[in-house]
Amino acid sequence: MSNDIRERWRELVRGSMCHADAPADTDYWCPELETIPRERIREIQSAKIALAYRYLWECSPFYRAKFERAGLSADSVRGVADLAKVPVTRREEWLEDQERNPPWGTFSPLRQEDWTDRGWMLFTTSGTTAAQPRVFRHTRFDRDLWSWLGARALYAMGVRNGDIAINCFGYGTSVAFWGLHYALNLMGVPVVSGGGANTERRAFFIHNYRPTVLLCTPSYALYLGRAMQDAGYSPQESSIRLIVAAGEPGSCIPSTKQRIEELWHARLHDDFGCTEVAMSPLGYTCGYQVKQTDHPVDVHLMEDAYVPEVLHPDTLVPVAEGESGVLVVSNLFSESQPILRYMMGDWISVTSEPCPCGRTHARAIGGLKGRNDELIKIRGLMFFPAVIEDSVRRLVEVGDEFKVEIRRVDDMDRIKLTVEPSSQIPKGSYAPPQQRIARALKGALGIDVEVELVPYGSLPRTTFKAKRLFDLREAPF
Ligand SMILES: [Zn+2]
Repeated sequence: MSNDIRERWRELVRGSMCHADAPADTDYWCPELETIPRERIREIQSAKIALAYRYLWECSPFYRAKFERAGLSADSVRGVADLAKVPVTRREEWLEDQERNPPWGTFSPLRQEDWTDRGWMLFTTSGTTAAQPRVFRHTRFDRDLWSWLGARALYAMGVRNGDIAINCFGYGTSVAFWGLHYALNLMGVPVVSGGGANTERRAFFIHNYRPTVLLCTPSYALYLGRAMQDAGYSPQESSIRLIVAAGEPGSCIPSTKQRIEELWHARLHDDFGCTEVAMSPLGYTCGYQVKQTDHPVDVHLMEDAYVPEVLHPDTLVPVAEGESGVLVVSNLFSESQPILRYMMGDWISVTSEPCPCGRTHARAIGGLKGRNDELIKIRGLMFFPAVIEDSVRRLVEVGDEFKVEIRRVDDMDRIKLTVEPSSQIPKGSYAPPQQRIARALKGALGIDVEVELVPYGSLPRTTFKAKRLFDLREAPF
């Protein structure tokens, strides 16, 4: 074994890559990792945590300082049981680090020579309004891990050699497109890139080149399907049999899932992660979960590659299994970002009960519920935007797009929903549904909601991630 901590880390991670090039059998890519007893998962996590901590201690000035401030020493973390000693990292800390130490910051253990010798790609966070985005460098070693982990997740969803994929995430500096792209490469699944094309071109690609797997956000799956209908193609009769959705919680919102699956006559799967800590799928759905209709879809967590923790948002103490809290994640495979305890901030509850698919890895019950900073607080009630989305999309007379505005009028918080009629129902064939929608929302949220119906096509169409909620209470005017 090498004395160099970087090489020791790479050796340990590389050694965990069973079936690096092809699946082991017809059900699981890595049965040794996906169906193992939970005690064994914990052992794997412990070995990786201990070395990741040491790697950060020696090679990341940001983490060395953070660990020392917490009173930790070089060998304070020897396994999962010690993880709670490590302080949580929040995104603001990385922002400050990159601003103080441009252009990369000091949180990554990667040196300039590693980047120029083995560098693969630069990624950035999406959706930021800051002039300077947060940037992340990854190596070819990382690329191989993303590919293998992504392939395992896609295989669990049912993607197989013989499929053809169309990838509609942007060919840019965001992690989603590239992680899926290289995973599909490893699986021997050809990729039609929809990344640089407009919707009309993508509809044409699907009609003519007959891909079987569609990769995009849930909002875009709806938009693309409707656009195909408008262009005279039938998404239902298209070659698409499986949709891998990422970037939004829609796959686990029952009525959105039902709409997308009916529109495409295809199974909808969920794939979630985040740029900072979970670049390959942290969460993925199995064939069993997406087919059952008893409860919202549970999402498996890739526990040999990550340690997901569910913490109370204020005390940061772990909650009991099955209870809700915020998601904090440690990465167990990256050469560039083996980050411990990053605050993803999504609300989640987890079960380790066995899944009928045979995988022993824990599941996020009903997927991610929403980010902590998206939680809507109104008149003493708290709910996530997904609750509104689920209620709206249960109503067949209502279109896919909607807008929610929250305002303070006369010291009272008021919520207004704007919807369109469904494009599938002929004009004038039903009574305006405002009252029915208002009743449904009052039942779901517990408060009165003003409903406005606008003509079909009035609301903005979502082509990537949706922005449908506007909380105008803190507006300066
Ligand atoms: Zn399962």
